[in-house]
Parts: sequence; C-alpha cells; structure tokens
Amino acid sequence: MNFKDYIRVIPDFPQPGIRFKDITTLLKDGEAYRAAIDAIRDGISHLEIDLIAGPEARGFVIGAPLALSLGVGFVPIRKSGKLPGKTVEASYDLEYGKDKLAVHSDAIQPGQRVLIADDLLATGGTIASTVNLVRQLGGEVIGAAFLIELGYLTGREKLEGIDVFSLITY
Ligand code: IMP
Repeated sequence: MNFKDYIRVIPDFPQPGIRFKDITTLLKDGEAYRAAIDAIRDGISHLEIDLIAGPEARGFVIGAPLALSLGVGFVPIRKSGKLPGKTVEASYDLEYGKDKLAVHSDAIQPGQRVLIADDLLATGGTIASTVNLVRQLGGEVIGAAFLIELGYLTGREKLEGIDVFSLITY
C-alpha cells in the first residue's frame, strides 16, 4: 500500500508557507488505518516493549492501536492541567512561546522499556519533551515510532540513541 496516497497535503495551513500533512484522510479509511498500524508494528518488531507513551492528541491515534496490537499498555501524555492525579511536567518550545506536557507520576515504573509514538515528527520538540517525561519517571526510552517524518526538519537529531521508525517520510 502506498501510504502517501492517503495523506492530504494542505498548503498554507496553519500559516503561509507551511504544507500541512493531514492524516484524517488516512484515518477515515479503515483498511489504510489498519494497514498503517500493522506496518508500524512490523517496523518496530525487533524491540522489546513494555509500554507505549504518546502525546495528545494525535499521539493517541497512533499509540493506542499500536499498544492494543502489541498487547502492551498505553500511557497518555497530556497538556498540563488535564490529568487528575499527581504528575510530572516538562515544557517545550512552540513556534511562538512555550507549552507544558504532563504525565501521571505513577504511570511508568523505573526500568520499564517504553516506545514513544506520535503521528508526525517535525522539529522534534514535542517528542523530546515526551522523552524527558518518560526519563523523569525512570523509564527507558527504547524507540520512537511515527506515521510521518518531515526529514527536512531534522527532528531525528533530538532522538540520539533512540531507535526511530517512521512509516512515511517527506
Ligand atoms: P514537532 O514538535 O515540531 O516535532 O511537531 C510535531 C507535532 O506537531 C506533532 O505532534 C504533530 O501532531 C504536529 N504537527 C506539526 N506539523 C504537522 C503537520 O504537517 N501535520 C500534522 N501535524 C503536524
């Protein structure tokens, strides 16, 4: 299956000059969605994974079905202020300003082998902050999996020492 055919590229969103990769066109096609999750699972099959962690919101759309398919748990990484229990937080840079991600303090046990999943790797800011949170809890980040990687933004450089798999690269 050529997965790129299922991604819609929208020019000048959210601002002029950006070519936004819209994954909703893949998600609404049941066969393509399932095939994409299966292909990502195959791409990481050499890793021994205890848990998957994914940042809101589109990290859930990739991470949760991947976790189900592997038979491991899923840990949601959320924007600060959304989780009800005790959390640890990490801030990250946005194009304008900063934002904070959070995870429940008891979500990951020290030494657990964690794969991080998201829809898209761009500058790597979101995923670096997710790595930071997993490590704060003593988790070992053994891999990162993405539906899409924007290779020209070199986000991969922020993931040194981590096994990175992306299904589609632009
Ligand atoms: P990064 O932090 O710069 O790597 O940006 C990655 C995050 O921004 C991901 O969680 C994506 O959901 C979102 N993102 C950035 N660019 C795009 C795009 O072109 N399409 C869809 N999501 C994007």
